[in-house]
Amino acid sequence: MRVLVISDVHANLAALEAVLADAGHWDVIWSLGDIVGYGPEPNECIARLSAEKHLAIAGNHDWAVLGKLELEDFNHDARRAILWTREQLNPLSLAYLQALSEVLVEGDFTLAHGSPRSPIWEYLLSPGAAKANFDYFQTSVCLVGHTHIPVRFRDLPGNLCQVILPQEGETIPLGQEREIINPGSVGQPRDGDPRAAYLLLDTEQRTFEHRRVGYDIAETQRKMRAVELPKRLILRLEVGW
Ligand code: ZN
Repeated sequence: MRVLVISDVHANLAALEAVLADAGHWDVIWSLGDIVGYGPEPNECIARLSAEKHLAIAGNHDWAVLGKLELEDFNHDARRAILWTREQLNPLSLAYLQALSEVLVEGDFTLAHGSPRSPIWEYLLSPGAAKANFDYFQTSVCLVGHTHIPVRFRDLPGNLCQVILPQEGETIPLGQEREIINPGSVGQPRDGDPRAAYLLLDTEQRTFEHRRVGYDIAETQRKMRAVELPKRLILRLEVGW
């Protein structure tokens, strides 16, 4: 089965469309949370993803717009975007977000937005944090998002955890070691590369590939300006931070 793995779309429809067009053939999409928040087209992104065969889990922004998280835990700009998103969501979108679970297990893969230990909130930014999380899932691989940075953490014997910053376009075999893999963000990359990030996974061949694709950033920025989303959120898209 060929799986298109996406995360942190953040209501950026132009970026989502670019990924869907670039990915070629896939059997199913796995979405790792934060379909909404920050960007200008929350309903459109939910509708677009709903039109495809897919599985999805909840992220912190998805929960925040539903009122399931305290807004004080978000920075000022994120909070403003969450409040704006709340006003936009139609009943279908609300029902979609309400139905999202925190964790899913599909075959040999666990899906969690932040981490398997604390799915909605924990950021896996260090090998120490990643290492501790290998005790919190049973499958060989855990797929996470949330940091908006493509990265792999490999569980090595002893107290070791290898951090790998993936190269795009390289077909990588899943080895003996368990891994936590982050595809990066479709709609708001934060690794200095403004192109949308995603992952293609072949569950039979047990290989995966990190990919990037450019999209019309100016179009998303124009839509954000039109609805007066925070300036910093608009500018960061073009620098990939
Ligand atoms: Zn996010």
